[in-house]
Amino acid sequence: MKPLYCRQVAGLLASTLICCAPMVQADAPIQLSGRIEQGGTATGYVPKGTTSLKLDGAIVPFAADGRFLIGFGRDAASAAALIATLGNGQQIAQSIAIATHQWQIERVDTPMRPAAIPSADFERIRAGELAQMTAARTIKVDSNGWRQHFIWPATGRLSGFFGSQRIYQGVAGSYHGGVDIAQPSGTPIVAPADGVVILAAKETPFTLEGHLLMIDHGMGLTSAFLHLSRIDVAVGDHITQGQTLGAIGTSGRSTGPHLHWGMKWQDQRIDPQMLVPPMPKAN
Ligand SMILES: [Zn+2]
Repeated sequence: MKPLYCRQVAGLLASTLICCAPMVQADAPIQLSGRIEQGGTATGYVPKGTTSLKLDGAIVPFAADGRFLIGFGRDAASAAALIATLGNGQQIAQSIAIATHQWQIERVDTPMRPAAIPSADFERIRAGELAQMTAARTIKVDSNGWRQHFIWPATGRLSGFFGSQRIYQGVAGSYHGGVDIAQPSGTPIVAPADGVVILAAKETPFTLEGHLLMIDHGMGLTSAFLHLSRIDVAVGDHITQGQTLGAIGTSGRSTGPHLHWGMKWQDQRIDPQMLVPPMPKAN
């Protein structure tokens, strides 16, 4: 049995000590490294001769060198099963213990505002936007960005955190799906890792996301940048880490200039903040 590893995480309200599951079990046939917790991602190598890999029954792609990436959604269950099937039919199974993450929950004693009844125009436009986002995620790209150490697309004050949620008199609102960085409109944003542009709402902003840019980093790992004032790249562009992609803005449904950075692994929302170093302190 390998020792547990612990880590100090600076929460918004208090510094919390989070103890995670062992990175590697003594008898683990598939070694994982990364953040095996809700909102996190981990990478590993499939056993030699693996022809398919599944996480709780869903196919996990892996690269020619056997490396793969898996992600754990904001509300992922505490256990998952990774199963590699070899060419000879033999199966190698490994159970994964996923640590829970204390998301920022705010209980308020006011009723949830009833949702405005959307107009027929809005419904029609929104359906088209959702279809574009769904179609973008089906584009097959070849990128090794998922192997890199991610960098912040912009630095500045964090004004919103992934997973945060309000509970209105016991009724849960939807949780925040990304991390917000407050900076004036026009502040450039850069690519957090290599990738391929799969959606760029350059001309017509989306109703909610505004000028939306989506990047595929490979292996099912995607980034979305919302509310931009400008987009400098086009669908199909191969971009490199640190390359300027556009600029912060307040387009779409936004209360002020900021970058909303959301990430997914396949259909699971993950916390971008878990992939980057701590935000540098402002001078
Ligand atoms: Zn946001």
